[in-house]
Amino acid sequence: MPLIHITEQSHDVAIDLIYAGANNFTGQAIYDHPLCFLHPQAEACLRKAIVAARGFGFQLKILDAFRPQEAQQALWAAAPNPDYIADPAKGSNHTRGVAVDLTLMGADGRVLDMGTPVDTMTPASHHFHAAHQAAVQVNRMLLLTVMLESGFVHHPHEWWHYQLPEARQFPLIDSQAFMRCLPSGNSLR
Ligand SMILES: [Zn+2]
Repeated sequence: MPLIHITEQSHDVAIDLIYAGANNFTGQAIYDHPLCFLHPQAEACLRKAIVAARGFGFQLKILDAFRPQEAQQALWAAAPNPDYIADPAKGSNHTRGVAVDLTLMGADGRVLDMGTPVDTMTPASHHFHAAHQAAVQVNRMLLLTVMLESGFVHHPHEWWHYQLPEARQFPLIDSQAFMRCLPSGNSLR
């Protein structure tokens, strides 16, 4: 099993995988499983981030993690914009299992105001974009601090995306081989 299964029960996180349903920028489900997986090294960093976020009074909410190559191809077909979506011919760090999209959630169950919805493909999604109010900048910096301190690096164009350093040294994960490791009743599309 090349990836570690992450659940709300096992990891003290909220999970709402945006591509498992239609609530994403494509308006359609990109994959049909609600399962969340990360490479063991990314999962180890995530554990640190979970504790760090709790130290600020927040919980991490995971929006996407491992992404099968087939899903990356579907995203690229919907939005072939290399500033925000990795060309599947080169491979996404999500398909390596070492990238995670996430936000912060307060004790009231509401996500913090990050200025844009996740996957907004405009400069407003860039870190430190000047048009945002101070409260939004602070919210983004909280997430940035938690993730950097835990061993991730950020993506300057996407406030929600974090990945391991030197991510491209990790191999792309063959989803067909991975699928055979899944609990029965689940499938990757
Ligand atoms: Zn991402």
